[in-house]
Amino acid sequence: MAPSRVAIVTGAARGIGAAVAKRLAKDGCAVGVLDLAEDNCKDTVAAIQAAGGTALAVGADVSVADQVAAAVGKVAEELGAPTVLVNNAGILRDNLIFKMSEDDWDLVLGVHLRGAFLMSRETQKHMTEQKWGRIVNLSSTSALGNRGQVNYSAAKAGMQGFTKTLAIELGKFGVTANAIAPGFIETEMTASTAARVGVDFQQFKDGAAAAIPVRRVGQPEDVAAVASFLASEEAGFVSGQVIYVAGGPQD
Ligand code: NAP
Repeated sequence: MAPSRVAIVTGAARGIGAAVAKRLAKDGCAVGVLDLAEDNCKDTVAAIQAAGGTALAVGADVSVADQVAAAVGKVAEELGAPTVLVNNAGILRDNLIFKMSEDDWDLVLGVHLRGAFLMSRETQKHMTEQKWGRIVNLSSTSALGNRGQVNYSAAKAGMQGFTKTLAIELGKFGVTANAIAPGFIETEMTASTAARVGVDFQQFKDGAAAAIPVRRVGQPEDVAAVASFLASEEAGFVSGQVIYVAGGPQD
């Protein structure tokens, strides 16, 4: 029987993060459910507890260092040393480059990259001490380039380099780092993109599905299943990888 672990999932109030938090709890982890507002974590925490798991709601902005330190400290104190980290919190501020503001560039890079950096720096202390850890970072197929997303695609490509470097630096401490790069996943994020471009969400999904080899869009649980494997004991020889969860191959 594997020892029980403590995990932190960022952006876990909804969407992919909520599915990952629930899946890791089902796998036996106690889960720090972290999102911008502690109150918004209630549903995920309640669902985990209703299924017999252990979860703690934590409010923090992942791009603010002292909030990150307080959040990781709270999880360590109340649940135990966090040795699984899923950097999932994310935002979109799409625009073509000629219309993109500096604020929208900074905001997106700040949440995805600075957020993952701060969370990883804070949590690796516990992982290296325990001589065991799993870091899973959310990249995206947009890392390969996507019109209207210079900020987001730069952040998601950055996540891949960040992941590989974490794998190199932390491997000797028993810590692995891997990235998941999803394609189209049905969440509020993709719903908001449909709303922004003025297309009905069902039509938007149908259009996306037609271009995906498996002929459907992804669900948060598709990503959670891969996160579950990467966070598991048996994935200890898989590190520095980017796994596309996109219903088909990527260039
Ligand atoms: P989502 O439904 O928009 O959920 C993102 C969550 O992150 C929200 O609960 C949000 O909180 C939280 N968050 C935003 N900024 C934060 C911050 N500074 N600190 C803490 N939490 C913050 O998004 P999703 O679709 O589940 O996406 C999850 C991750 O997967 C993101 O990194 C995204 O880029 C990536 N991804 C998604 C897709 C897709 O098709 N959906 C594809 C590829 C990659 P608020 O609600 O309070 O803003």
